[in-house]
Amino acid sequence: MNKRIARFLTDNSPETPCLVVDLDVIAEAYASLCRHLPLARVYYAVKANPAPAIVAMLECKGANFDVASRGEIELCLQNGVTAERLSFGNTIKKEKDISFAYEAGLRLFAFDSQHELEKLARSAPGAQVFCRILVDCQGAEWPLSRKFGCAPGMAIDLLRRARELGLDPYGVSFHVGSQQTDLGQWDGAVGAAARMFSLLAEADIDLRMVNIGGGFPAHYSAEVPAIERYAQAVMAAITRHFGNHLPEIIVEPGRSLVGDAGVIQSEVVLISQKGCDDDRRWVYLDVGKFNGLAETMDESIKYRIATPGRGGRCGPVILAGPTCDSADILYEKADYRLPLGLQVGDKVEILAAGAYTASYASIGFNGFAPIRTYCI
Ligand SMILES: *Cc1c(COP(=O)(O)O)cnc(C)c1O
Repeated sequence: MNKRIARFLTDNSPETPCLVVDLDVIAEAYASLCRHLPLARVYYAVKANPAPAIVAMLECKGANFDVASRGEIELCLQNGVTAERLSFGNTIKKEKDISFAYEAGLRLFAFDSQHELEKLARSAPGAQVFCRILVDCQGAEWPLSRKFGCAPGMAIDLLRRARELGLDPYGVSFHVGSQQTDLGQWDGAVGAAARMFSLLAEADIDLRMVNIGGGFPAHYSAEVPAIERYAQAVMAAITRHFGNHLPEIIVEPGRSLVGDAGVIQSEVVLISQKGCDDDRRWVYLDVGKFNGLAETMDESIKYRIATPGRGGRCGPVILAGPTCDSADILYEKADYRLPLGLQVGDKVEILAAGAYTASYASIGFNGFAPIRTYCI
């Protein structure tokens, strides 16, 4: 457990559940990524954690930002980020939001379909556009497949069309899936991008940029390779497929920058059993799927959990949230074990919970407030 966060929790005893984020840990993760991928421009994927203090700190460090909506654009602008450091990376945008972005000064936009391209041509004339391609996301704990991207063949046609429409066909993007644990995944995607560069060069269109998306990990229950190994895998793929003609590289980390920097402190509300011959304890916390732990959906993300001050022998538990919705079970199949001495009122800490928690909380389902974030 991070010492600064532990001290904050002891000194302030905030109401639970709450998320405490250590900005120094994010700054270090950002510096480390820049060190390991010196040729890439870093765009922080704001959706992972949009706390204004995080945006302001990364702004000071010189980061760029991947935004998905008018709200995220306004958040960045209000925190001192200038428009040329923003990329409108969502492929599903209302035309009036494209106009808003363009008028605010954004000139970099993603698309993956004919209709989106037409909206961009009308409302962001002359902008740099990049086409997102489909990749299969094998090996990712939180896949981002199917919904985004188009087949490379269609992407080629669309990038040609982009030029006819007066846009600047700038490059190709993909996302190999979030919390991607298979380092080999970048190779296939970069290879597909490189083939698009060559095929379009024949049509006299010179793409310049490859956007390798996110996918780098935070540290949950399972071990993951070190960040330098991810960087090496990415750079090896790019040099293998592009040779000496390296493109501009954009990387869009979300989870790997903020995940490890946050701890959710929660409290045990109830411990119960369902029958005399069933020894599994049901442990109900004051945090659940609707106020911070949405990524426990299908038990996809398996957080590390600590019970400060409570050691000793452990036994199996089913962990659940506090709402009156039976979908609000966190872990039933995954074999979570907590101390047999655990009591109602004990603190339970969800570690590496800085990404996709507060930003995924409902506005107050069942009267449970969204989780409060403290940045320290
Ligand atoms: C969510 C998202 C990211 C961030 O992905 P992580 O796996 O959290 O790093 C990057 N790019 C785009 C377009 C996204 O939608």
